[in-house]
Amino acid sequence: MAGNITFTMIKPGAVHNEYIGPILAKINEAGFRIVAMKFTKLRTKQAEVFYSVHSERPFYRDLVKFMTSGPIVVAILEKPNAVDEYRKLIGSTDPEKAEEGTIRKMFAESVQLNAVHGSDSNENAIIESDFFFSKSERFSKDGEVYEVAP
Ligand code: GDP
Repeated sequence: MAGNITFTMIKPGAVHNEYIGPILAKINEAGFRIVAMKFTKLRTKQAEVFYSVHSERPFYRDLVKFMTSGPIVVAILEKPNAVDEYRKLIGSTDPEKAEEGTIRKMFAESVQLNAVHGSDSNENAIIESDFFFSKSERFSKDGEVYEVAP
């Protein structure tokens, strides 16, 4: 299963703007299967850990504040070559640089309020999925709980 999953978040701005439905529609239309999903809200400590790779960047505190400002949708998505395919679907970090038709072009407001997160490597897809989901919260195509972790 490694290489076939990615992790995504629909960020607080997009949730606030009622874009959950339209973003999930884009995800389904692009051929991703939803393995796991929940509606939740990050606590400050969780956001700090999730984005710890950016802890030295000037935008880190603002990013943590934004990511804890409201509920988010978190999900594990499945498709062959999921990480790269999903990065293509969401587009550039900065929506002004994102291609037409990408999720960020359509639904992001700015480089920080950029609608969605997508894992940047297979390794991070697994780490980020484990951050939010237990194995019993992940389902295969036939609706069974995954016996082996994806
Ligand atoms: P991603 O993998 O495309 O999400 O981009 P990064 O991992 O580089 O950055 C993580 C998140 O930090 C982005 O999705 C943005 O929400 C935010 N971010 C990245 N760069 C900037 C920036 O220059 N300014 C601000 N305010 N936020 C940024």
